[in-house]
Amino acid sequence: MLITPISCLADNYAYVIYDNNSKTTGVVDPSESKPVISFLEKKNLKLNYILNTHHHFDHIGGNIELKKKYNAKVVGFENDKNRIPGIDITVKDNEMWNFGSTTIKIFHIPGHTLGHICFFFEKEKIIFTGDTLFSLGCGRIFEGDHKQMLNSLNKIKKLPKETKIYCGHEYTYKNAEFCLEHDVDNIDLKNKFEKIKKLRSQNLPTIPSSLDEELRSNIFLRCDQRELKVKLNMKNQEDLEVFRKVRDLKDSF
Ligand code: ZN
Ligand code: FE
Repeated sequence: MLITPISCLADNYAYVIYDNNSKTTGVVDPSESKPVISFLEKKNLKLNYILNTHHHFDHIGGNIELKKKYNAKVVGFENDKNRIPGIDITVKDNEMWNFGSTTIKIFHIPGHTLGHICFFFEKEKIIFTGDTLFSLGCGRIFEGDHKQMLNSLNKIKKLPKETKIYCGHEYTYKNAEFCLEHDVDNIDLKNKFEKIKKLRSQNLPTIPSSLDEELRSNIFLRCDQRELKVKLNMKNQEDLEVFRKVRDLKDSF
């Protein structure tokens, strides 16, 4: 499986995914068609599938043009079939969906939107998390509530630690600054920030991250950790309250 991040809009990533066994090509969350088309043409590829994590314009903006040009099939969550332009194939929570010679497990992960899903390539241990889990961050809670978002993150936390994480935006640098403000003596976080600074100074993507790195350094995945609760003066509070607090702090960061 070959994955190429395609920079779109200001800070979005679409990902072209290519299964070389079956010569199947897909794109995850194309916010615009142009940069995706120019990559496909350069590589002499056709497009078979468009996979959408959720209905926001900066994830589906290229659907219709790409569909028209390549006759690609649009894949999205069944409950969002009225909000995902051009949808052809609907998937549901826990469904296994075949992409070429490989299999994707679908997880429904509401919170950012009510119909948000992620695509987990089980064999390859690769996940596309859209605007739910970012590197060192998590998405804003627009349609769902904090409890849903925390549950969604907890689903992702249970995947194998070596899982590679591909998210919808390049927010990592700013996210790192926020994490450091509240988790200042976290060595793993400090090390990750050094890596991030280097990559961004060369204008390179900080993606993919790995679940292992995120578990160690992403404050939103650490709301169950006693050391973090102590730092936030919330040592006897439930995980959900800690998560709510961290999300609120980030909203005004
Ligand atoms: Zn979004
Ligand atoms: Fe987005």
